[in-house]
Amino acid sequence: MSNIDFKPDALAATAETGDAISALQRLAERMANTKGETSLFGQRLTQALRREDWALAERTLLAYVESAEEVANTRMAPRAGPVEVLSKEENAWRSVATRLLDAGVPALLPETDPLAAAPRHALQQARRALGQGNTETTASIDTLVARCGAYGVSQSRRQSLMAEFLTHLLGNVAALTEHESWVQGQLASAELLLKGALAEEALESAIANLKDVAARQAELKAGRDDAREASERMLGRFLSDLDGAAASAQQYDNRIAGYASRLNGAITPQQLDTLLAELRGDTAAYGETTRHTRAQMAEAQEALLEAKRRISALESKLEEMSELAREDPLTHSMNRRGMMEALCREMGRARRHETPLSIAMIDIDNFKQLNDSLGHRAGDGALVHLVAIIKSTLRQMDVIARFGGEEFLLLLPNTRLEDAVSAVARIQRELTKSIFMYEHQRVLVTFSAGAALAQAGEGEESLIRRADAALYEAKRQGKNRVVAAE
Ligand code: GH3
Ligand code: MG
Ligand code: MG
Repeated sequence: MSNIDFKPDALAATAETGDAISALQRLAERMANTKGETSLFGQRLTQALRREDWALAERTLLAYVESAEEVANTRMAPRAGPVEVLSKEENAWRSVATRLLDAGVPALLPETDPLAAAPRHALQQARRALGQGNTETTASIDTLVARCGAYGVSQSRRQSLMAEFLTHLLGNVAALTEHESWVQGQLASAELLLKGALAEEALESAIANLKDVAARQAELKAGRDDAREASERMLGRFLSDLDGAAASAQQYDNRIAGYASRLNGAITPQQLDTLLAELRGDTAAYGETTRHTRAQMAEAQEALLEAKRRISALESKLEEMSELAREDPLTHSMNRRGMMEALCREMGRARRHETPLSIAMIDIDNFKQLNDSLGHRAGDGALVHLVAIIKSTLRQMDVIARFGGEEFLLLLPNTRLEDAVSAVARIQRELTKSIFMYEHQRVLVTFSAGAALAQAGEGEESLIRRADAALYEAKRQGKNRVVAAE
């Protein structure tokens, strides 16, 4: 025992070695009892342990580890190159998600908006995870969704604040402007637009209106300032002339008083002659001054009238410019000029965003007959009725313009040809449901239409021409129908 006590480490080592060997033997046995390659390694290890051949045991174990690594690698391989090994469904899922992340999400997160930085970062991470097919894909998409959601909330809050701000601004501008018809009308339409959903088109339209208002106001103000300045100048001259007239009257009175006192004294016929000659001279001079003053007063008055005329001419010119207001006064739809602007803008947008844009040309059937039988006022009423039905049937982003007498053009952004055709057909159905009433008479109004889809690189004129040709075809086929353009 004392020996053992003397070398405690050696004893421990021996005991531990024994434990390790029996552990290895158990491992070898276990391996030998398995199926396949592992069993061979187990048998070799058992042999090595039996022979106490530690080098062989080590080689066997190393070879086993290498072989296990190889197996693991071939199993891992599908992860590195997911495309070949992923299930068809998972592939489809990944491809949809990738397209969504690449095409859909970036458009919602403008680079110019610093608030979009966080969701953009999440987007990059999700995109990377998806590309590598790694296990964080779901988690990173969850993060992306959460950040986009938060961003959306802040966006819509900013939008409603902006709309509120613009509405206040419009209210203030409206209170400041004295010019009733045109400017107020423009402000009212801008306000209406803002009351609807704050779509991009509505904002653009409101901004265009405000720009017009600002320009017209500046023009009107400049004209008014000029006219006012001219009146003030004239008034000044008039007052100084009056002053002059009063002064010369005073002078004349003094002279007369002088003559009177000279007449009161003894006076020679010679002196009387001189006095009379002087008096005649003074009277003539006074008459001249008065005439001059009168002429100046008349001139000043005329100038004032002229200034007034200029102001009212300026105002009526502004009214004439209501053509610029892009609105048809009868139906309150857009006028042709407004439509051409809108069409140009929408065609540009469709090109940039690669979205379909359709138009439809509409012409009321047998309108002349309606006018002839019920009168022009009934015709006007039918036009107003039709526009109301169209407006209530179409989406907010669609534009309707009166293109000619009883012709209307519909502008349908982000709409394919077949959808344009069915939108027009919907209006036709709606028109038979909500019949136009004129002086307690039911008047059936129908129309024919031609729809056309804007082609790549096509100009406005050509698009309208094709819609018009389709409309002609609809009339030829018997009216009250819609035909799609080639
Ligand atoms: P179709 O079915 O082939 O289109 O026949 P239509 O009678 O509608 O066509 P046509 O072009 O011969 O007649 C259009 C009429 O529309 C002629 C014109 O007097 C009338 N019109 C044009 N503008 C107005 C308007 O502002 N008010 C009214 N009441 N009538 C108008
Ligand atoms: Mg016509
Ligand atoms: Mg017609």
